[in-house]
Amino acid sequence: MGLVQAAADLGILEYEKGLDNMGASQPMEKDRRYDVVIIGGGPAGLTAALYAGRARVRTVLLERGAPGGQLLNTEAIEDYPGFDHITGPELAQRMADQAVKFGVDLETARVTAIRQHGDKKVVETEDGEYLADFVILTAGGEPKKLGIPGEGEFQGRGVSQCAVCDGAFFKEEVVAVIGGGDAALEEGVFLTRYAKKVYIIHRREHFRAQAILVEAAHKNPKVELITNSIVTEIKGEDGQVKEITLKDLVSGQTRPLAVTGVFVFIGFQPNVQFFDHRDHVEHDPLGFLVTDSTMQTSLPGLYAAGDVRSQLTRQITTAVGDATTAAIDAVKKLEAKKHEPTPVPVDIYGPTRPDLVGS
Ligand code: NAP
Repeated sequence: MGLVQAAADLGILEYEKGLDNMGASQPMEKDRRYDVVIIGGGPAGLTAALYAGRARVRTVLLERGAPGGQLLNTEAIEDYPGFDHITGPELAQRMADQAVKFGVDLETARVTAIRQHGDKKVVETEDGEYLADFVILTAGGEPKKLGIPGEGEFQGRGVSQCAVCDGAFFKEEVVAVIGGGDAALEEGVFLTRYAKKVYIIHRREHFRAQAILVEAAHKNPKVELITNSIVTEIKGEDGQVKEITLKDLVSGQTRPLAVTGVFVFIGFQPNVQFFDHRDHVEHDPLGFLVTDSTMQTSLPGLYAAGDVRSQLTRQITTAVGDATTAAIDAVKKLEAKKHEPTPVPVDIYGPTRPDLVGS
């Protein structure tokens, strides 16, 4: 099916207000047909945009907020090659500028669904539909919740999932960090810039985080590591966190611990709620999408790159690598499509002869 026919079927050629060459306001066609639609504007999405744009395929990137994704919540980046030190927002801005330079449309839109239409994909958003040959899903993930009493009640009033965003509110205070992965250890040490004491509370004896991060936490005099323990409740007064209840998993005993901040870093879940991926696309037990080596999911034409993809680790470098592969593969397939011979109508040969099938 051609793009024009598919768009006409779906009513995707919409009209929006524009200016004519005399500067007068008049309706102008907004064409939402693209070769590639990228969903999500973090490092993976911006990299896919750069590669697709540079290959001169018609590309739009849909992002519900400002481009940058988790980069916007990251103060210092020291593990992105070529940069000894760069802030997340600055790296995000550079990536976005570079994608736009190559002609990619960056649009603010909240995606609500993805569906198949013939051999095309329709990306539904709150503001209308987009039609694409290929979709690269780079929607990332969201922090997981503990699901304990007080977590929701004190969200934003002592409970946080972002040390860079909220750490400065806890100057000379005592805070707890929950989790034993890279994020918990890294953010816990970061919080010592502000807090006078940081408890890092982990449910196991050993940390999952990289040894270098655990060592940095051990060496920091403001950090106290509490292992084999979970937090069972967050309590407060006057709408602010005052205390958590700690349970020692070895002795079974509980005790109160006075803190005014609780930073939860217990992992991510993929942002795939907007389409019923569990039914249609192969995923791992946590819901992260499984891809082949070209980053294509089990749904042909749908790629996944970055944190939304099932993989060993979630780094900026892995996100940009995934996205590079996905965009290059999509571009190659678009190129191949252009050179496909026009399909010959089957009926000119008459009905299939069963005696020839498989010969
Ligand atoms: P993560 O590696 O999945 O670690 C989550 C931690 O939270 C684990 O220690 C887990 O405990 C614990 N946890 C999970 N559910 C819990 C619950 N209900 N109650 C208490 N604890 C719970 O997640 P992450 O630290 O957010 O990191 C995500 C990814 O980003 C990782 O791949 C990581 O390498 C990467 N990252 C890298 C850097 C860096 O390199 N600078 C920084 C941040 C993140 P168990 O160990 O018992 O499962």
